Amino acid sequence: MTSSPSISDTAYSHVPVSLGDRAYNILIGAGLLPNAGGLIKPVLRTPRVAIITDETVAALHLTTLQQSLNAAGIDNFPIILAPGESTKSLSVYSDLMSKLLDSRLQRDEAIIAFGGGVIGDIAGFAASTLRRGIDFIQIPTTLLSQVDSSVGGKTGINAAQGKNLIGAFYQPRLVLADVGLLESLPNREILAGYAEVVKYGLLGDFAFFEWLEANGKKVISGDIAARIAAVETSVRTKAHIVAEDEREGGVRALLNLGHTFGHALEAETGYGSRMIHGEAVALGMIMAAELSVQMDLLSRQDILRIRQHFAEVGLPCKVPSISGVDWQAETLLAHMRQDKKIVGGRLTLILMKEIGSAFATQAVSEADILSVITDELASA
Ligand code: NAD
Ligand code: MG
Repeated sequence: MTSSPSISDTAYSHVPVSLGDRAYNILIGAGLLPNAGGLIKPVLRTPRVAIITDETVAALHLTTLQQSLNAAGIDNFPIILAPGESTKSLSVYSDLMSKLLDSRLQRDEAIIAFGGGVIGDIAGFAASTLRRGIDFIQIPTTLLSQVDSSVGGKTGINAAQGKNLIGAFYQPRLVLADVGLLESLPNREILAGYAEVVKYGLLGDFAFFEWLEANGKKVISGDIAARIAAVETSVRTKAHIVAEDEREGGVRALLNLGHTFGHALEAETGYGSRMIHGEAVALGMIMAAELSVQMDLLSRQDILRIRQHFAEVGLPCKVPSISGVDWQAETLLAHMRQDKKIVGGRLTLILMKEIGSAFATQAVSEADILSVITDELASA
């Protein structure tokens, strides 16, 4: 850090995201929120911000943030949205832009995205388009947003035609990941975020996977030091990948491990509370691993090890039966064909050679994909 934050009692680590003139830092620690004002002030051009948040986060944590901003002399006002994925819509975006313009938020002022991935995505997109782009700061409040969505600059909202289809690559000026905020997060959301944490181990870091085998339960149950370590390693991996490939032309695709299968499961369950993203990604990673075994890439021993870890920490490893959902392998494959990552009519899938070594391939036949899905549904 070049500027010294006005705190003395909070230990935090920082991970730089190296993107030239759009480089920024991710600060990770416990108890950062009460010091947010001092940490944010050095990156502000003018000390005035709009805080975009949701009702749940506002009720729990908004006062602390505002007190800290006030103490640092940062003029601020909140815009509070409804919680949930349906907030990432054109109509909410339109209202939000009107409110930001009515409040006369200027180009040299900033937006703070204060919430989970839903808030980060819509607030980041609002920042990218308000007056052709104003600065924004991420204060992610879910494990998923701390390890994934707050880093890397993907912002956006959903369209009637599909998820995240309207958006922009737009990097924040600073990310503050306070693991203390996770104490109020329901266990189901913690586990969903943990699926993305394990993903970083599986795709490129065997040592991290081993560390999670030893410490994953602590991460989930709320051990602060374990949470800081897990978030730090995850964002370090993501920051590294994003710095290499900001717009997903190459290595960034590895972050989609488990996601093509996962999106099919989410599409079939309606992108809602019946199966949340991280649960679908966990199952998707199991399917990607099974496919890797079927193609003689990954060893049986490795997939058993992955399954055992998922079972131990409580991640799903079997497709659950859900009332109103009639799982069909063909239907799931049809959803996969809608995937954004189709190139020249072929699906790009992320497979594993071993734990900690994933790669992208278009050399998988639909028959092989179908057979893996069929097996997984049969064992459900
Ligand atoms: P979310 O933002 O909906 O948050 C989940 C729930 O937790 C919400 O009800 C929220 O109100 C509540 N919540 C948030 N923080 C809390 C806290 N500290 N205590 C108690 N409750 C809290 O969901 P999410 O899982 O954080 O994010 C999912 C979204 O992120 C999806 O829309 C997805 O598309 C997006 N995403 C984006 C990227 C990206 O790179 N931009 C990456 C992954 C996911
Ligand atoms: Mg994801």
